[in-house]
Amino acid sequence: MKKNILFLGPPGAGKGTQASIISECFSYLHLSTGELLRQEVENKTNLGAQVVDIMNSGQLVNDALVLEIVKKNLSLTNNGWILDGYPRNLSQANSLDEVLQSINQPLEIVFNLSVEDDILVSRLLNRGRKDDNEQTIRTRLKIYKETTAPLINYFKGMNILDDIQGDRDLKTISKEIKQKMAS
Ligand code: AMP
Repeated sequence: MKKNILFLGPPGAGKGTQASIISECFSYLHLSTGELLRQEVENKTNLGAQVVDIMNSGQLVNDALVLEIVKKNLSLTNNGWILDGYPRNLSQANSLDEVLQSINQPLEIVFNLSVEDDILVSRLLNRGRKDDNEQTIRTRLKIYKETTAPLINYFKGMNILDDIQGDRDLKTISKEIKQKMAS
């Protein structure tokens, strides 16, 4: 059985990139809440209309709404998933815990990608997504520090956290992740 994985880290740390590489390599279901929400916006669904302004401002979308998306997508597989961008706060972490208990699919590894702020900002400005302008980046980094970073200790307490230095070449990072997955 594959180990279920979560990528944690600030915006621009490389969570999405690494989650894509690893999911492709080992045939995991890659579940990125940001990506799923962007698809809703692109497809002009009701849900998309509800979240577009919040996303463009860099704020977090309502917990209940994101939880529905996560539940729906987790039910698509029992053969390994990688979560990227969820949970973003303690309440989401508790909801996730409940969902995972109910489907009997424990989270087994959390890779915490860390990168310094100035590198994050220049990466995000280069990426050029719609929510990657200076004002929004500042908001997202602030929210990360205040709301999401406490999850590092939460997962440390569960003994499943692995720190990864994210300011290196992406191949070096994915190699290290693969080694840690195998150990
Ligand atoms: P990301 O692609 O992970 O950077 O997410 C892009 C945007 O989607 C975020 O700035 C939030 O507005 C929203 N979003 C993604 N994941 C979550 C989440 N777990 N909780 C709340 N909002 C989220």
